[in-house]
Amino acid sequence: MSDDYILEMINISKEFPGVKALQNVNFQLREGEIHGLIGENGAGKSTLMKILAGIYSQDRGEIRFQGQIQDQLTPRLVKKLGIHFIHQERYVVSYLTVAESLFLGIEPAYTPLKLIKRRSMEREAEKVLKETVGIPIPGNKLVRDLTVGEQQLLQICRALLQQPKVIVFDEPTAVLAKREAEQLFKIIRELRKKNIGIIYISHYLSEILDICDRITVLRNGVKVNTIETKGLTIEDIVYMMAGRHIDDQFPSKNRTIGKTLLDVKGLTRSTLFRNVSFQIRSGEIVGVTGLMGSGHTELGMAIYDHSGITDGRVEFEGKRLSRLNPERAVSLGMGYVHEDRRNLGIIQNMSVRENITLASLKEVSKAGVINTARESQKAAELIEKLEIRTPSQEETVNYLSGGNQQKVVIAKWLSSGAKLFILNQPTVAVDVGAKAEIYALINQIVEQGAGVLLISQDLQELVGLCDRILVMYRGEVIQELAGDHLTTDKVMVCMMGGSLNDSSNNE
Ligand code: ADP
Ligand code: MG
Repeated sequence: MSDDYILEMINISKEFPGVKALQNVNFQLREGEIHGLIGENGAGKSTLMKILAGIYSQDRGEIRFQGQIQDQLTPRLVKKLGIHFIHQERYVVSYLTVAESLFLGIEPAYTPLKLIKRRSMEREAEKVLKETVGIPIPGNKLVRDLTVGEQQLLQICRALLQQPKVIVFDEPTAVLAKREAEQLFKIIRELRKKNIGIIYISHYLSEILDICDRITVLRNGVKVNTIETKGLTIEDIVYMMAGRHIDDQFPSKNRTIGKTLLDVKGLTRSTLFRNVSFQIRSGEIVGVTGLMGSGHTELGMAIYDHSGITDGRVEFEGKRLSRLNPERAVSLGMGYVHEDRRNLGIIQNMSVRENITLASLKEVSKAGVINTARESQKAAELIEKLEIRTPSQEETVNYLSGGNQQKVVIAKWLSSGAKLFILNQPTVAVDVGAKAEIYALINQIVEQGAGVLLISQDLQELVGLCDRILVMYRGEVIQELAGDHLTTDKVMVCMMGGSLNDSSNNE
């Protein structure tokens, strides 16, 4: 019965050159429900939401909002209908104050008269924020000085001032701290009580189970199912998303450890980390972890480019490295996968082919001239091997989904033939299927004799992949775990500053 639904998207199809992004997808949203939209990267979630936002138009299919057919959606109309989108990225104009960005352009509800005085506008903003999302933010603060979580709350508050009927959250918690995420859930549940329909996109399946009433699962542009979450398990959802069971996310550790590749001695960077020493041998994966701010992220970067080093030394294949920079590191055979792949891992405007072969230009060129046939052959091999989902080698990288972009980054380093890889949070915001593929890849590079330094806060990932794990606490390595001690519980206890003995009482 269509009357039950505030929004219906019926038989929606959308093609991009070479990709059927959506095929006859049906999506129905009830009033006052939290509806999870899930699927692996590239499944079609964003495309469906961009059609709803009036950014893309569907090739076929019909959209009904409150029973009315809407065949000419534009971003303006969508807003007028009461459909709002909360993005994780910083879409807000960042040089505005909180008060300005809250009220800008949403008169007449807030008439200029009421807001004409800066101070009274700021006070009004503080009041509205407190009432709707329950947070104290000064109205004169600049938006760019807010945390990402606060910016999201600001966006929600702004939506609430406009009588929203539907709010879409696109991966809202991916960048939030735990406390901020919990705050957000509380608010989302409040929105449900106000009978607002909520569409919630996330890769965090336990959160999905926690917060959503129903989910719709997409796979390769096709709807797999719409189902109540009650009684579902994470495994059930993973199976629907991937169409296969991923019981064995982690490859078996079958490694031949060889000679020392990297030897770090007493490395110190003023206040960030102190006196860190360890080695990585060929065929070995060494993990480094810690709570946020414990220095593990900066340590990875410092090994690669010597940023901020104040004491200690790094030897690579027996040679002491001084004044290292990224170019020199690459030429020596070190690869670094940055956690913020959108900024540093890939060049967004370049093609998939160019990105993949970027780190191995020497191999595909002669006397400075790139041999395009070789380059393209190399790229084709890697695209196939890594199952990178792209319409062609020539596709610009920023059109690929997150998981596929990450595979391009890894492909880039694989093709470089590097001997040591520093991987900084390689699977953050990557879906389950792509995660398993990335794990297999990492395993493959160590089987071929490379060494890996894996910086991560994903305990399962660390335990599943590493031969040894260094745990940092307030800038120091306080524990090295190996063998039977490689369990998530033990890593966690050490991360919090506990010792191995504490963990046995804990089990
Ligand atoms: P999701 O949000 O589930 O990760 P998307 O909707 O972003 O998936 O992508 C679905 C498919 O459509 C992917 O194969 C993606 O590469 C492709 N795609 C999305 N947007 C574009 C575009 N503007 N041009 C070409 N292909 C696109
Ligand atoms: Mg998406």
